[in-house]
Order: sequence, then structure tokens, then C-alpha cells
Amino acid sequence: MAQIQGLAAHAAGAELLKFHYEPGELAPQDVEIAITHCGICHSDLHLIANDWGVSQFPFIPGHEIVGAVSAAGSLVKGLGVGDRVGLGWQSNSCGVCEWCMQGRENLCAQIEATCVGRHGGYADRVRANARFVVPIPEALESENAAPLLCAGITVYSPLRDYGVSAASRVGVIGIGGLGHIAIQFARAFGAEVTAFSTSAEKEEEARKLGASHFVNTRETRALKDVAGQFDLIISTANADQDWSVYVQALRPTGTLVFVGVLPKPVSLGVFPLISGQRAVAGSPIGSPARIREMLDVAARHGVKAQTEAVPMAKANEAIEKVKKNKVRYRAVLAN
Ligand code: NAP
Ligand code: ZN
Repeated sequence: MAQIQGLAAHAAGAELLKFHYEPGELAPQDVEIAITHCGICHSDLHLIANDWGVSQFPFIPGHEIVGAVSAAGSLVKGLGVGDRVGLGWQSNSCGVCEWCMQGRENLCAQIEATCVGRHGGYADRVRANARFVVPIPEALESENAAPLLCAGITVYSPLRDYGVSAASRVGVIGIGGLGHIAIQFARAFGAEVTAFSTSAEKEEEARKLGASHFVNTRETRALKDVAGQFDLIISTANADQDWSVYVQALRPTGTLVFVGVLPKPVSLGVFPLISGQRAVAGSPIGSPARIREMLDVAARHGVKAQTEAVPMAKANEAIEKVKKNKVRYRAVLAN
């Protein structure tokens, strides 16, 4: 098999450099994807900076992948060369634990991430276990679909898990890659959506994406005004804030779900949790079955990432723009 060409981080925080590796024989249960598009998720930036202490250098980032199957192992069923497919954060799981048996592979303790301890999608090709490679519905364009494979599923899952419906009021904190898709899916479920943002200039677009209300979180007063209103608040922010204000913003039995990863432990008083039977939770990506469902819902309800296409060779420039919170709303590398 020919070498795989990509861009790799060689040390924490370093610029990506050209890199290639030998993929070896294709495992019988794996597929290889010729990548056309790969979104830049903020998790890639966390990995490049080694914020989570799990990065293994050198590595090729990228886990919002769309492309065409270029090779399929001998045991692969249902996917063939040329099929348009997607691959997200997860590339494998043990397949036999209680969580895998329930079809909740994203909770498997042996989860293998596409670009942790292996090479991801800022490249010409990538390989993964076929169970984690999903067909892309025809109605979705590759560039707008790529971010759904991580950002999309991560915000879709809690909407399903917490039973969001037309009766729900949902808040979304942080209107970036994840947040701008969260607004759209919450609207598709019929909920009334409020966007919480540090960027006042995002208000008009947040409303176009489906938010009925916009709270500028730099204004402490505006945050206090929404006390007791939400059934579900999804936080995609990756910076610390006064989380007690968001707990106060929940209705009784409401839940604040963290999907954005925070630099420091969260400190919260328990009284507002006890008195309103409120909950604080976290949520990781979603299972392959959920990803298929999410893509189908996106295709039928017109949910798509708003993207800025960038040639693969300019990944470093795009990463700098993500760091500055300047991308509207997802940079997608294109081959
Ligand atoms: P992103 O595109 O950079 O968006 C993050 C948003 O957070 C920004 O657009 C900004 O929105 C807000 N923000 C930035 N700085 C802030 C600050 N100082 N205070 C408050 N808000 C701030 O990132 P992303 O790709 O959406 O990823 C967001 C987080 O989710 C990352 O931590 C990532 O690792 C994590 N993630 C988790 C999972 C999971 O499975 N749980 C999956 C994917 C990603 P405003 O301008 O609107 O304030
Ligand atoms: Zn991601």
C-alpha cells in the first residue's frame, strides 16, 4: 500500500508539518477512505496543544472526515470502493462489552479515537474499523456534512437523550462549530432556542440559524434575567464561566450538559441542584447508529454546518483563525 501523506504536529503547540506514514496491510475489518474533506474541530486544537495529556507525537489531527472508500478489508460488509462515507472521533471499540452490545459504542472503555495514538484526517487517506464508517446521505454536500461527524453528533446526542421536543426550551452556550449546529438541531426538534454567546456580532446569524433569543454573556444582567427558564442547556464553550448562573437558568428538573471541555474543575453550590432537582451532566460524541440517525435527520430537515473551505495545505492558517474565534462557523480542509 502506498504511503499516506498528511500534516502532523510533532510537539505540543507546534505548527503542523508535512508528514507521511506506511499504513501496512489493510486489516480485514477496516476500510480506507480517500479524504475529500476534514473539519477542524476545537478538539484537534486541544490535542495539538496536548491540553489533555493524551497526545502522542507526531500525529496527524482530524476527525470530521468525509471521502470515498478507496479499499475495504475482506470481512467488510455493506461498504464498497467508491461509496461516499464519513468518519468521526471514534475509529474502533472492543465490540464485546455491555456498552458495545447495547449499541452504545461511544461509552466503550476501549474506545479508539481517530487521531489519538493513530493518524487522522488532515491527510489524503485514513483507515478505521468499518463499524465506525457511515454512509453520507445524498442530500448532504461533503463540505457541510464533514462537521456533522463530530460537532453534529456531539450536540445531537444530548437533544435525544434528554427528550427535547416542541415543548422544550433549550439554551446553547458558545456559538462556534458545535453551537451553531446545536441551534439548528434543537429547532428541528421543535424547541425554543436561546443562544448564549460572548460575541455580540453573532446575534443576527444565531437568529437565522433558528435561535429565538440571544443572550450576550458579557452582560451579567442579561444572564440573570433568564433564571428558571430552560429544560436543557448544552455548553459547548471551552473556557470557564460562572456556571452557577446557568444552573439558576434551568427550570426544575432541567439539565446543564457539558460537551465543551473546560480547563479547570467546575465549582457549584448544591442547593440549586437539590431544590429544583436540577442536574449537571456530560456527553461524549454518539454511537454509530446515532450518527446514521443524525445524518438522516440533517438531510431531511436541512441541518448543515456553515463552513469556510480551506485547502489542506493551509491548515495552519485555519487553525490560527479557529484559535481567535474568527471562523464562521467551521473551517473545513479540502483536498
Ligand atoms: P469552536 O468552534 O472554537 O467554538 C467554541 C465557542 O466557545 C466559540 O465560538 C465561542 O462562542 C465560545 N468561546 C470561546 N472562547 C470563550 C470564552 N473565553 N468564554 C466563553 N465562551 C468562549 O469549538 P468547537 O469545535 O465547537 O468545540 C467546542 C468544545 O467542545 C471544545 O472544548 C471541544 O474539545 C469540545 N468537543 C467535545 C466533544 C464531546 O464529545 N463532548 C466533541 C467535540 C468537541 P461565542 O463566540 O458564541 O462565545
Ligand atoms: Zn471533534
